[in-house]
Amino acid sequence: MARRRIIAGNWKMNKTPSEAVALCAELKDLVKNDDVDVVYCVPAIDIVPVVEAVKGTNVHVGAENFYIVDSGAFTGEISAPMLKDAGVEYVIIGHSERRDIFGENDILINQKVKKAFASGLTPILCCGESLALRKADTYKEWIERQITWDLDGVTADQVKKLVIAYEPIWAIGTGETATADQAQEVCGLIRSLIAKLYDQATADEVRIQYGGSMNAGNAAELLSKPDIDGGLIGGASLKPDFGKIVNA
Ligand code: PEP
Repeated sequence: MARRRIIAGNWKMNKTPSEAVALCAELKDLVKNDDVDVVYCVPAIDIVPVVEAVKGTNVHVGAENFYIVDSGAFTGEISAPMLKDAGVEYVIIGHSERRDIFGENDILINQKVKKAFASGLTPILCCGESLALRKADTYKEWIERQITWDLDGVTADQVKKLVIAYEPIWAIGTGETATADQAQEVCGLIRSLIAKLYDQATADEVRIQYGGSMNAGNAAELLSKPDIDGGLIGGASLKPDFGKIVNA
C-alpha cells in the first residue's frame, strides 16, 4: 500500500521564539507539497508562536519531549494535554540524545508511547545503534530489542498510526550518513519485526523514517528506498535546504 511520506524537522535546542517565527516565514514557500506530511518538532517555548506562524500552511507542529503525567509537581516538565491544547500533533519519543544525555530508558519510552496515543498525539519513536554496536555487528538485535520493548502493550491500531525513526547514532550530527542500502536494511528489518509482532497489514501501514545527516544532496536516494517513508532531519531542518528535502 502507498504510505504518505513524512518529513519532520527536529530543531533540537535551537531558535528563540522570535527566531523560530522568522524561520517559519523563511521556509513557508519552500516546504509546500500537498503529497507530504511536513512537521516541525520545536523546543517547548517555540510551540505557541510556531503553531500561530504555520496557520493556513501545510506544516504540522510537533514537540521534542513531554512527561507521562497530565499535571502536578513535576518541575520543568510539560504534559501531553498542554501540548494538545497548544495545537501540537506529533511528539518525538526516545531520541538518542534523550536516551544518552537525559538517561531515558525503554521503560519510560514505552510509557511515553502509550501516553502519547492515549492523549491523541502521534509519536515519532526513535531507535538506533551506536558505532560500537554497528562495528560489533549486533545492531540488528539491538534495534529489534528497542522496538519490542518500546511497543510493549501498544495495539495494532495504534502502530498503524505510529511513525518510527531509524537513526543510527553514528550518523546523527556527524555529517556521516548511512548509505541508502544500510538505511533500507534496517528500515526493512523494522517493518518485518512489526509484521512479526502484529501482522502484515500493520507493517504495511506503519511509517518508517530514516534520520542521520539527511540533507538536500542525499535525501532523494534515501527516500527512493521501499521501506523508507520519510526523514527525521536535525541540522538541515534549520535551513532552506529543508524545502529541498521535502520536495526530494
Ligand atoms: C536528529 O537528531 O534527529 C538528526 C537526524 O540530526 P542530524 O540530521 O543533524 O544528523
